[in-house]
Amino acid sequence: MSLVTLSRVRRSYGGVRALDDVSLTAPEAQVLALLGPSGSGKSTILRLIAGLEPVDAGEIRIGDEVMSSSARAVATEERRVGMVFQDYSLFPHLTAGANVAFGLNKLGRAERETTALKWLDRVGLKHRAGSYPHELSGGEQQRVALARALAPAPRAVLLDEPFSGLDPVLRAELRDATLATLMEARTTTLFVTHDAEDALQVADRLAIMKAGKLLQESAPRQAYDAPTSIDAAAALGPINVFEGRVEHGAMATPFGAIKAAHLPEGACARAAVRAEALRLIPGDGARVLSVRPHGAHDVVRIGSGGVVWRALAPPRSALGETVSVEIQPAGAFAFSVSS
Ligand code: ADP
Repeated sequence: MSLVTLSRVRRSYGGVRALDDVSLTAPEAQVLALLGPSGSGKSTILRLIAGLEPVDAGEIRIGDEVMSSSARAVATEERRVGMVFQDYSLFPHLTAGANVAFGLNKLGRAERETTALKWLDRVGLKHRAGSYPHELSGGEQQRVALARALAPAPRAVLLDEPFSGLDPVLRAELRDATLATLMEARTTTLFVTHDAEDALQVADRLAIMKAGKLLQESAPRQAYDAPTSIDAAAALGPINVFEGRVEHGAMATPFGAIKAAHLPEGACARAAVRAEALRLIPGDGARVLSVRPHGAHDVVRIGSGGVVWRALAPPRSALGETVSVEIQPAGAFAFSVSS
């Protein structure tokens, strides 16, 4: 159990900068979720921490020990990190028990078996110890993979999209079970996902990535309540982007003012308004263009002055209706145009 630190890490593939000067700390015994769209560099971070590839520049430490730098590359098997990768499947010819026991080669045979069973028990699969991977469901296989990663008491565990490919109900169940196991094991965890909900559900800390850059690293609540850029705001759910000028410390929109006192007077600014921060009330000023259910809410497209906004609202609005729209200040953020 250790913290994992990346300092100014760079990695390119040909002309593609997969990681551009990334500095990041995964706190000890907590879950750091790496959230970003496909291609943003999340898996590259995990591969570099695992030592599957070298860094081009910068340094990776686990605890106090340098694992990767331009001068040093500790071998993967000596880093003591556990991995559950999307395509890192179980050994098909070994039972679940033998898969978990596989990494425990420093222990005697009896102790290996007991430890493997203990970990299968922790993921709720002790009764399947004798089953082969093809006899297990996708979710069960991922639970065995998690037990296999955690059994050798790694200093950190790396999970790369571990729930993708599972149906939504199973996904939520497995996510909760995985989190419970990780909390019990108190293992430093890096968890890669492109799914904001997964990230918010598992993360103690959240790192938002885009195009090889770290956009924001903070507590999940802070990332939601105080994004540092339009892109960081967009990572956690649908937003509306509004451009305008700062006048009297605010940006005037068709639906009220957005506070912008922190920006220079007269400057061009862009605001992110979370879809759930638009309140639709009876009145006029905007027309409902479409209504689509989205869980407990509706996604409502509303038009005003030739501009279309997207709201997440309680299912009340009807197509063609006119509504009044209010922006709730807690979900509206103004940035200078360069942000
Ligand atoms: P993510 O995990 O966020 O989807 P990746 O870390 O897999 O992103 O990839 C980051 C970028 O690096 C992408 O543009 C990807 O195409 C590129 N990349 C990753 N691995 C390789 C590789 N082995 N060869 C060439 N390009 C790669």
